[in-house]
Amino acid sequence: MATVSNQELKQVLREHEMKATSQRIALLKLLNNTSEHYDAEEIYIELRKLQKTVSRATVYRSLETLVEQQLVSKLDFGEGRMRYENRQERDEHHDHLICERCGKVIEFFNLEMEAQQLAVCEKHDFLPSTHTMHIFGTCIECRATNPN
Ligand SMILES: [Zn+2]
Ligand SMILES: [Zn+2]
Ligand SMILES: [Zn+2]
Repeated sequence: MATVSNQELKQVLREHEMKATSQRIALLKLLNNTSEHYDAEEIYIELRKLQKTVSRATVYRSLETLVEQQLVSKLDFGEGRMRYENRQERDEHHDHLICERCGKVIEFFNLEMEAQQLAVCEKHDFLPSTHTMHIFGTCIECRATNPN
């Protein structure tokens, strides 16, 4: 994952006609520098470590704005909470394996799978815009601690 400077993030926000507040920058930076798929509360807790004055309401509001501006992706893994990840044009597309026991998310990219999806669309004369692929199951660590 490429590290992005504050200056670049300011530029990104400006391109999206958003005020480059320190909070939005901190939020984008956090999501940029992690492969975690945090939920809103976890993002709030992380930002709180950096800025004592951060309020939960502002974090939640900023998140929604960044999602609307398509700078951040909102992911629903069916857990009753939404998770968020960085979404920038320079980022490669990827899909997810989700552990149903510990909630760990593994990212993967499989070219053959992507090609197959396009083939399916073509077969149905369907023009795809985007897709999300979530595979649910049990990760290796969880299977090691409790094989059942
Ligand atoms: Zn995919
Ligand atoms: Zn697990
Ligand atoms: Zn992801």
